[in-house]
Amino acid sequence: MTLTPSLTKHLKHPDRFIQIGSEARANTTALPELFSVFNPSSGELLAELPDMTVEDVSAAVARAYAAQERWAGLTARERSDILWRWHQSIVDNSDDLAAILTAEMGKPLAEAKSEVLHAADYLQWYAEEANRIYGETISAPSNDRRMLVIKQPIGVVGAITPWNFPASMVARKISPALAAGCTVILKPAEQTPLVAGAIFALAQRAGFPDGVLNLVYASDGDVIGRELCSNPDVRKISFTGSTEVGRLLMRQCSDQIKRISFELGGNAPFIVFDDADIDAAVEGAIQAKFRNAGQTCVSANRLYVQSSVYAEFGEKFTERVRKLKVGDGFDTDVSVGPLIDEQALAKVERHVEDAVQRGAKIRCGGRRTGSNGTFFEPTVITGVCSTMRLAQEETFGPLAPIIRFDDPDQVVREVNDTIYGLAAYFYAANLKRIWRVAEALEYGMIGINTGRMSSEAAPFGGIKQSGIGREGSRHGLEDYLEMKYLCMGGL
Ligand code: NAD
Repeated sequence: MTLTPSLTKHLKHPDRFIQIGSEARANTTALPELFSVFNPSSGELLAELPDMTVEDVSAAVARAYAAQERWAGLTARERSDILWRWHQSIVDNSDDLAAILTAEMGKPLAEAKSEVLHAADYLQWYAEEANRIYGETISAPSNDRRMLVIKQPIGVVGAITPWNFPASMVARKISPALAAGCTVILKPAEQTPLVAGAIFALAQRAGFPDGVLNLVYASDGDVIGRELCSNPDVRKISFTGSTEVGRLLMRQCSDQIKRISFELGGNAPFIVFDDADIDAAVEGAIQAKFRNAGQTCVSANRLYVQSSVYAEFGEKFTERVRKLKVGDGFDTDVSVGPLIDEQALAKVERHVEDAVQRGAKIRCGGRRTGSNGTFFEPTVITGVCSTMRLAQEETFGPLAPIIRFDDPDQVVREVNDTIYGLAAYFYAANLKRIWRVAEALEYGMIGINTGRMSSEAAPFGGIKQSGIGREGSRHGLEDYLEMKYLCMGGL
């Protein structure tokens, strides 16, 4: 595996990461096919990695299966200590990890650094939580019996992660799995395997026993997905990605009734009511929409603004969007990086075109920009209605459509009319309204007067076709534990 100078030039300690890609191949003398990883800001080649085969994946599963008993047999404190060491090593190497992330994914370096530290927060949280796995005792119906519930690790977990948060999605999945006593095979997205590889390289120094953590790469997720879903030694699939691939994996897991946790797509509404603090709502919308160039599952996909504050919000928001600087994430004054690839860019263009053809107006932006890379201007579109594609589908780009509404009850019904149910945001002041709207929104997470809500301490996840299960908090740990009921008689 080769890291090119266009990547290593950004690193303080490239020697620590040269092992990326050398893990987890089956015992074979055949030279692997390679696949390439590019920088979306410049198109430069960053690295070439082995394109793993079904044999490589099943060898990784065998290693994880062999390690499962030993890992589950350690005390919670021993597992916790290893997670703590890994956490510290991620913090110590956070500058290099952030640089790798920015190079392969494009997001601004400051956002990348904050993501890496957020990934470390998950390890810290679950290093602590590993020590708090409790069972239950139950009052038995007769005195000669005792009844209790114990919690045990599910077993080998296949984890599949997306490219948009390639460090924190890895940590959010595998730290609760490891804390629970599960072993893991991770498949990162083909666009962003390098930061995952670097995080795994640091894990090797933290003292995980062989086989507990396994990394597999492929240019085609389907190859690895099929093997992970069909191999009976894999007891659970934990997936973050699109709803479309989630549906496919659910079907593939159904033969074995395999455990699943899915974090899927969203179509988050951002509602501004007439009693909102408009300046705060503008700032919240900027965060919720343009972080990661709009490529977040909780991105504010459609902004609904009540008629009496529509003009004020529209003007202030557009003014603020005009000031966002697009460019290479390594430039310190850049706040919006590139889209991940040409396909992503084409989707944003299609959504703009559809809206304009159907009468919407571009207030700013609206086009691709830059001579290299996959950049799109931060864009505001008004005169949008809920039936346009950009309001129906997840755009996953820096495109903010604004929809005007009059009736506060009707708007809640309108925003609930989607297959998705991940995140929603609203700005309001009246306490009664805040409670009513929060309870009526059919979403797993609600941001009230804030544009950010992700935390390792909170349950992240969606309802409807946005997912099954939660990540983060104690609920995230439960998703990697089976409960076993014990009944002792003859006492
Ligand atoms: P994607 O579904 O295309 O890919 C996600 C992962 O699945 C990648 O590792 C990919 O290689 C793999 N994959 C693709 N096809 C596969 C197959 N047939 N079998 C097995 N694995 C396969 O999604 P993406 O484009 O990488 O990510 C964007 C999507 O992820 C968006 O819809 C976004 O909303 C969602 N997402 C959700 C959350 C959440 O927490 N709910 C977080 C981040 C991203």
